[in-house]
Amino acid sequence: MKAARLHEIGKNLSIDDVEIPVPKGRQVLVRVKSAGVCHSDVHYKDGRWGDFTPQGLGFKSPSLPLTLGHEIAGEIAEMGEDVTGLSKNVAVVVNPWEGEGLCDYCSIGEEQMCDNPTRLGITRDGGYAEYVLVPDFRYVKTIKNLSFDEAAPLACAGVTTYRAIKEASMEPGNALLIVGSGGGLGTLAVQISKALGITTIIGVDISDKAIKATKDAGADYAINAIEENADKEIMSLTNGNGVNGVIDFNSSDKTLGAYSKLLAKLGTYVMVGQFGAELNINSIVAIRKSLRFKGTYTGNHRNFVEMINLVENKHIKPDVRYVGGLDKVNEALENLSNLKVTGRQVIRP
Ligand SMILES: [Zn+2]
Ligand SMILES: [Zn+2]
Repeated sequence: MKAARLHEIGKNLSIDDVEIPVPKGRQVLVRVKSAGVCHSDVHYKDGRWGDFTPQGLGFKSPSLPLTLGHEIAGEIAEMGEDVTGLSKNVAVVVNPWEGEGLCDYCSIGEEQMCDNPTRLGITRDGGYAEYVLVPDFRYVKTIKNLSFDEAAPLACAGVTTYRAIKEASMEPGNALLIVGSGGGLGTLAVQISKALGITTIIGVDISDKAIKATKDAGADYAINAIEENADKEIMSLTNGNGVNGVIDFNSSDKTLGAYSKLLAKLGTYVMVGQFGAELNINSIVAIRKSLRFKGTYTGNHRNFVEMINLVENKHIKPDVRYVGGLDKVNEALENLSNLKVTGRQVIRP
């Protein structure tokens, strides 16, 4: 089968011919119909997160070559002998945030924090290939109302967004600010926030295209931070109180500094984007306003299942752009590096 693999940090992926894996035990082989292209893939390819390398962040570098791609939807092609409740050709979306099941984090259901993670497309071969081997059938979820292209990005963008909204602890009547609202995660965050019934959703981004995407996704307000005075606008939209939650899909020097000042008392700032910046907040302000600052990384299997059910039942249509086959994967990564995309790009291996 064909697979787009990373051989060397900083180089483009190359299309290789590799063996089709054979599933054993609880493993399933999925025929990949659609794979989402995530900004993390750019980080893995470049070996850098902002100013940091994986070593600098205390992560293990993956062993290369590695087939990237962790947003995967497809059909069950083959199953190991211990798989039950699934049949061939069933449409599924794959949860790539797997743990080895043995550490404390796995045992409390937070497998995405596993000490020895076994993540598809990150620590083991992923979905930029015709087939992918999923280590355990509990990580596939059947889909009914979603196309493969719509389902694939949910595996990372969807679960990350859903967990981030949960972490923001929104209450009825609250206002949520979404920073980077026009991108792949941003538009999904707007849609999911709306489906969860969040009262006021404010999106902020920096291009007309992104502002249009924010409005199309259903935000109550969309602010172009280049053209408008976003601080003033947001404070006036919230009657001078500020927002109760911020979800920051950049978490860069520019956004962290500016938007953390707009939190209302008891507000929560959730950092998702990995642009790499120092959090700089006066402790007296944080204490007197009882502010909470959190990082969040993807989500657990419960978040994954809840999010897929929510998206299917509320008929959320993720904003996806079909770019082409496996041979287009480097182009798609390039588009992300140049910040040229709104919505989520998908390829069809
Ligand atoms: Zn991702
Ligand atoms: Zn674990």
